[in-house]
This record gives sequence, C-alpha cells and structure tokens, in this order.
Amino acid sequence: MLALRQKVRQWRAVGERVALVPTMGALHEGHLALVKGAAQQADRIVVSIFVNPSQFGPQEDFAAYPRREQEDAEKLMAIGTDLLYAPSVTVMYPQGDVTQITVPNVSEGLCGAARPTHFAGVARIVTKLLLQVLPDIAVFGEKDYQQLQVLKRLAEDLFLPVEIQGFPTQRAEDGLALSSRNAYLTEEERKIAPLLYESLQNLAGALHQGAEAEPLLNAAKESLCAAGFTKIDYLELRAAEGLAPLNHLSEPARLLTQSTIRCSHLVAMSCGKHDPLELCAI
Ligand code: AMP
Repeated sequence: MLALRQKVRQWRAVGERVALVPTMGALHEGHLALVKGAAQQADRIVVSIFVNPSQFGPQEDFAAYPRREQEDAEKLMAIGTDLLYAPSVTVMYPQGDVTQITVPNVSEGLCGAARPTHFAGVARIVTKLLLQVLPDIAVFGEKDYQQLQVLKRLAEDLFLPVEIQGFPTQRAEDGLALSSRNAYLTEEERKIAPLLYESLQNLAGALHQGAEAEPLLNAAKESLCAAGFTKIDYLELRAAEGLAPLNHLSEPARLLTQSTIRCSHLVAMSCGKHDPLELCAI
C-alpha cells in the first residue's frame, strides 16, 4: 500500500491528475468504458479489483461471484490502465478492524430495503480505497445509481478530498445494461430481460408528457410480471439528486427499479427531464 501511495504521490507531484475506478472485477465492456471515460478526465488511471465481503448479505453470492483476475489484468493493460490494485481481504480488513460507516437516508429504501447492510459495506470499502489511493477523482457507474448518490453524500459529509463522478450506463444492443451478473441469466431469461428497458422507455415517455407516476408504475409492474419477471422489488420515480420520491417529473429524476427473473436480479433506472432514459442491471 505504501508503494501505491508513493506512486500516486509521484504522479501528483508533477501535476498529473489521478483517477480511481473501483470494481469487483469480472470486467466487461461496461467497466472498460468506465475506465476509458475516467481516462478522459485524468492523466493516470488506477483500477481496483476487490470482491468486497462486507457489502454482501449472508444469503448473497459472495462465494459464487465471478473472479477472473488474470483476464481482467490483460483487459486493463490493453486499454492503458496505469496501475491495477487488487488487495486481499486481509489487507482491506486486517484483524481487529471494526470501524463502520453508514450513510443514512440515501442508503434507505430501493436496493437498501432488500439489502440493509449493503451500502454500509460499500461506504466502508470505498472510504478505505479512497484513503489508500488518494486520487483526485473517483468514477462510478450510474448503473448503480443509489450507490453513486451514497458515495457523493459520503465524500461531502466526510470532507474527503476527492471528486466523485458518475458515468452513464453502458448497454447491450437490446438495451440490457452490461453486468457481471448477466452471466447468471439463462438463455430464456436473457430474452425476457430487455423488456425492462423497453418498459422504462415507455414510462419515461409518459412521464415526460406530464403523467402521474404511481398508476403508470403499478401498470408497468403488472405487465413485467405477466411477461415473465418473477418479482419487481421496486420501481420508483426518484429525484436525481438526493433520491426523494416523486409523483411527477417535476425536477430532474430517475426511474429506479430492481427486478428479478427467477434468481437473477436486474436493476434499472431511467430518465431525468433533461436526460435520456437510463437502465441498469446488476
Ligand atoms: P462492480 O464491479 O459491479 O462493482 O462495478 C464497478 C463499477 O463499474 C461501478 O461503479 C459500476 O456502477 C460500474 N459499472 C458496472 N456495469 C456498468 C455498466 N454497464 N455501465 C456503466 N458502469 C458500470
């Protein structure tokens, strides 16, 4: 870690701007676009790969989460990443480590409802990574929109000397957001999955016409279930900044959803008044 800090300090000493892109690996084109996007904002790019146990609940897929470090390293090298940081669990959580970080309000509801400890785990690991690397900026995908809002709040509240930046969701041609967990979808589920994006686009269209959100969202949930989705954990219209619930598109907003096809989760989000539709999947 000392070598890492020293390297970053050397870069910054000669006026180079350093970006950190935290990931859990199993890198796909969405991650690589995020890294390339970060490279537009900075002179040096550090990518971290760490499958963070503290953000997984006891029934979640920590053990099964895909791990492909060699392949990931090759992909990162091919796009000019300056430094890959892949610490072990004992480096990130040494014996005796107990400090917790919670970001109330913005962590609650949406993904936080079904995963009550998730964002505390994210906040804890991202704080550690930011303090280890000390970058100028850290870049996160809008695919995980609530996470991005949690991390912006965290950095602001703790006066962390880093700019937290969002990056647009990258999708497959049919609109499904690229995600490491798409690998869990069966062929049949993969065919159904893009309906979520289609549904969000339709919702966004109606909201832009001034429609009330609640009846539209209820109807969309029903038709997604009829089409093969087994559970819509949530489908909500929220303010883009701060995530307050909205019933009309009265300010820049996002449609946020987490939906399940059998055991696979898809998370989607959409539409600010000034933004195109966004959809994401985890
Ligand atoms: P993960 O490895 O899933 O923790 O993701 C690492 C970073 O990549 C997070 O900031 C994600 O939001 C971002 N990310 C993952 N998939 C995409 C995507 N399809 N488009 C844009 N960003 C993404």
